[in-house]
Order: sequence, then C-alpha cells, then structure tokens
Amino acid sequence: MKSSYYGKVLRVFLFSLIILSHPLFSQEHRCLTSEWHSHKLKSDAAYKTRFESIESINIFQDKESALADTTLIIPVVFHILYNTSEQNISEEQIVSQIDVLNEDYAVNNASSMDVPAVWTGLKKDSKIRFVLAKRDPNGNFTKGITRTSTNITEYTIFDPALFSTALGGHDAWPRGSYLNVWVCKLGSNALGFAAYPGSSAPTDGIVISYKALGRNGSAASPYNAGRTCTHEIGHWFSLNHIWGDDNDNCLGKDFPVTQTELDDTPNQAAPTFRCKKFPELDECSTVDPGIMYMNYMDYTDDRCMMFFTPGQVAKMRIIVDGLRDSLKLSSGHLLPAYTGYDAAIDSVLNPVRLAGDRCLQPEIRIKNNGADTIKELQIAYGLYQGLQKSFHWTGNLASGDTTHFILPEIGTNMGNQVMEFRLMGTDSNSVNNYASAGFKVNSAVNENCSTCKISAYPNPVSGQRGICVKSCRNQSQLSLVRIINTIGQVLFEEKMNLNPGDAIPLDLTSFQSGVYLLNIEGDLFSESVRFIYLPGENGVNGPTNCN
Ligand SMILES: [Zn+2]
Repeated sequence: MKSSYYGKVLRVFLFSLIILSHPLFSQEHRCLTSEWHSHKLKSDAAYKTRFESIESINIFQDKESALADTTLIIPVVFHILYNTSEQNISEEQIVSQIDVLNEDYAVNNASSMDVPAVWTGLKKDSKIRFVLAKRDPNGNFTKGITRTSTNITEYTIFDPALFSTALGGHDAWPRGSYLNVWVCKLGSNALGFAAYPGSSAPTDGIVISYKALGRNGSAASPYNAGRTCTHEIGHWFSLNHIWGDDNDNCLGKDFPVTQTELDDTPNQAAPTFRCKKFPELDECSTVDPGIMYMNYMDYTDDRCMMFFTPGQVAKMRIIVDGLRDSLKLSSGHLLPAYTGYDAAIDSVLNPVRLAGDRCLQPEIRIKNNGADTIKELQIAYGLYQGLQKSFHWTGNLASGDTTHFILPEIGTNMGNQVMEFRLMGTDSNSVNNYASAGFKVNSAVNENCSTCKISAYPNPVSGQRGICVKSCRNQSQLSLVRIINTIGQVLFEEKMNLNPGDAIPLDLTSFQSGVYLLNIEGDLFSESVRFIYLPGENGVNGPTNCN
C-alpha cells in the first residue's frame, strides 16, 4: 500500500515537473473544458446528475442512432465580444472557421492525408456539418454573427458576464436551435472551453479566444488552423480528451465505462504538445503504434491535428440524435422566407426561477407569427433528458394573436432543473419552436403527479362562460369549492357535495378573461388546478353542458 502510494506521488510529481517545465505550458492553456466541468460537478448537483445520466447511455440501446448515416446541419451563431478593434474579428475570419469545421468533420482536411497508415481505416466522416445561421430567433435575416462592444478587457472562464447581455457579454440564442460560439479575449491565455451536454441553457455552447479562431486575421500560430473550435465542439458533443483527464493512470478513460465498446483510441497518459513524429510512445502505450497524438481531442498544434475515430463519431451522433436532437428541427440555417404557417413559443410562464412543488403544471405562451390561422398544435415538453410529455391542441389562433396553455403536469426532482419545450410538426420557421427554462425546486413534497386530482374542463375555457369540475375520488365528499384569481382574491366560494363521477358546471359569466385557480377542499384533502378563461366576445353564457 505504502510503496504504491509513494510511487503514485512520485509519478504525479515527475509528471507535474515535466509539464510545468515545458517551455510553452505557462504561455497557453489549450483547453479549459475539464476545469469548467469539475467546477460544475462541484457547484451544481443537477448538472452532475444530468452529466452522469448522459455518461450512462448504453451504446447497445442507441446503436441505431450512432450508426445513422444522415447528414446533420448545425446552425451556428458567433457572439463576438470585443474591447479592442483587433478583437472585433472580421467576417472573413469567422467564415474561415466554418470552412475548417466542415473540412474537419468530413475528414476533407489536408492534414488527414498524413494519418499514419495503421490508422487510416479509422478516419471517419461524422456527417455533421456547420452553417452560419441565416435567420435569428425572431425569424429575421442574420449573418450568424452578433457583435458586442464591451468594457471588459478579458473574461475569466467562470465569468457569468460572458453569457449575459446585461453584464457586458451576449445572451445565448436558444440552444435547441443554434450552436452558440462566444469569441473574446480569455484570461490565463486560455484558447477555449466548452459546455458538455447537461449544462444549463444560458451557458450551453463553446467559448474561443479571438487568437485561436479561424485561419486568418487575429488567429495566431500555432493555433491558426481553426482546430481549437473543432476540439471544443467535440466536447460540446460529449467527447473527452483522448488521454481521459485521468492524471496519468492508463485507464483509457476517454470513453465512459458504459461505452467501452466504442473505445477505439489507444491509452494515453497525458496531453501532447507541439507536433510529434510517428510513432510517439508513452507510459500507457509503450509499443508501436503508440499514442494517437494527431486526434482532434489531443493538444497537438493545429496543423498536426487530423481526425476523429469511428468511436468518437458514434458518441457524437448519440448526442446529436438524442439530447441535442432539437437542432435537427431548426431552420436557423435557412434564409427567411415568406411563411404562411409559423407558430412560435413566445415565452415560458411556468416554471420560472423557483417552484414550490415537485409536481409542476408547465405553462407557455404561443404566438401566431404567420399569416395563416393556426388550427392545431403539438407541444412536446420534458425535463432535460428528453421530451417525455406531449399535448395536442385544436382550435383557432389568428395571425398575430397569442394564447397560452397550461400543460398536463409533470413530476420533477429537487434542486436546479431545466425544462424544455418544442413545437412539433411542420412549421416553415422552426427557429422559434424551442424554449427552455431553468428553475429551482425547493420542496420535497408532492412529487407524485399521478395522485388523484380534480379535473376542470375545457381548459382553456374558450367561447363559453362556464367550466366543468369533476372529482376523481371514489367517495362522496362535502367539499368547499373556490375560484381564486392570480392575486389571491377568492371570487367564488360554495360548499357542495361532490359525488364520484359527477361533473359539476360552474358559472363564470361574471368573470373576466384570465388565469384562475380552482381549489377544492374536503376533510382530508385540498386540491388545486389552474385554468385559463378566454370566453371571447360571443361566448355562450352560463353553465356549460358537462356531459
Ligand atoms: Zn479540451
């Protein structure tokens, strides 16, 4: 025990000595993704849970998506944050970065010709392609570039300002419709970092130094071939560093244990700096062909990076066909066009910020941005990890009008959560069909949404001035029925006997349009349900027929 402990200490010490004495280590930090990741694991329990669940995805279950051969197009927006004119990089430089990505992810890059013969069979086209966004989240024309003049002279890795327009950076565009790339001056001479899948929406993208973006302009040698971005997007698609960030242990941890079937990269002890000559051996790969230092997920200089392996491509495809699959429905890469039919998620009204109940009733506002009347909507939603629930609506939403929906309830865990919403179906402007909301749940009770609840229908009430209430209890109950408005005023209160299966009509003729809480209290229970009241000009008066 003792000797192996000291052996390890000695090895770590020697490793540190080698790294620290490297002439270039003090000058640049190639990638801070693992620092960002460790910080998040420690400071955000929900991120830890989400990340671990992603790592537990079993390749056998997702093999089909991993092997899918369709080409996926990712709309990209670059947020340029500049304090000096040099940092306000040119459009040409940004376009050169998109070119690099499309070459690298297709293995059309010139450097891939130099892949050692032993690994040429592993060069794999990911079929993932990148396009500068052509329409913004409002559906208007964009060049896929935002430019923000800022007083901030350099950003640190954990600086929330980066991701916030209000604080001197730029808000993310919806992550379900775009890949966000922030470009700025980073502290510690860092070249970039990425958010792994599982990150919260406002920071879910990648950050690149203006000195390491693209292959012209301010891009500085040896990081002027655009491969920092290639590497960071690899992280954004869940790839780990090729040495596994495992501090010199030859465990081959660049793939999670659930996905070892994908692991087609050699064991490697530590990052590789500068350019190497094949074969390069280390303490984890002691014999020819040695380590795969030319892999995009190493730290080799830009010009010596060459390819992703099939295992890495499969892991990226699992993410892009799964957790990030909303991107596939985005029209952000298409020029704005006349769209007769365009439903948009206008805003998320619930959950926001804090939820006092683990059983939530999500609420969103939908706007008709098109010319045609919307007669039908399919809304999918869920906690980040998948859109587990869906809601179907038919009705009439005229051009320019908004309406909101209270969606069937969904149970959640405590702590920081993310809920995502997506409009499904055909919509010619889908950049506005996605929204996400971060919120915190601070109650341990009531997580079970399947308990008996009263139902109120129709919800929303539209075109009539009455609502039906039905108890799901199996015994008659003398109950106090109340209707309460959003500021807590009781507008209706009556004791009535609720029998199993009975549907009781309530008269809303004196009510104004709005959102109300229906509350029913018995001896042993108190249940509430929210409903929306939109009777319209010509609504039918009085109690409605509930059968
Ligand atoms: Zn990295």
